[in-house]
Amino acid sequence: MRIAILALQGAFEEHRQMLLRLGVENFLVRNLDDWKQKKDALIIPGGESTTILKLLYDLSLFDLVRSEILTGLPVFGTCAGLIMLDSNHLATMNIQVKRNAYGRQLGSFFTEGDFIGISGKIPMTFIRAPYIETTCNGVEVLSVVNGNIVAARQGSQLVTAFHPELNDDTRVHEYFLRMIEK
Ligand code: GLN
Repeated sequence: MRIAILALQGAFEEHRQMLLRLGVENFLVRNLDDWKQKKDALIIPGGESTTILKLLYDLSLFDLVRSEILTGLPVFGTCAGLIMLDSNHLATMNIQVKRNAYGRQLGSFFTEGDFIGISGKIPMTFIRAPYIETTCNGVEVLSVVNGNIVAARQGSQLVTAFHPELNDDTRVHEYFLRMIEK
């Protein structure tokens, strides 16, 4: 298995470390040539969604990434990566997102929460995070924190509003690997 990590901006290196710990081959996508490599899945990291969006357009990656996801490339988006998949950006998932949803004071926080399909509490680091306001057709809610949806899945697309790559716990990444294998 070989996973592409979008590395235009943000916390891509942490995802790479996570995959290396799990023994999963991966490569960074910084431009169109990188993107053309063979891949079994894609990770879109956290960062700044406006910047990532602009770079996707500037590098002529937007339509290619979108069409590969729509034709079945499994994808995992964290935080800004979640925003990128919503109906206002790549629009591959039926979710509407509220950005910077917790206000300035509570912008960043840590908690532990439940995650459907994983037993035990998951450490969740939120950094100026979004949450999912509404979902429709085919979206399964996987985690709710303080009444807000913070993880969801639609087919082979997985999103979390928190950053599993910033904690030692590898279980959310392993969950994604199981999705790819199916
Ligand atoms: N606030 C960022 C945005 O709106 C997301 C923050 C993050 O990815 N940690 O894009």
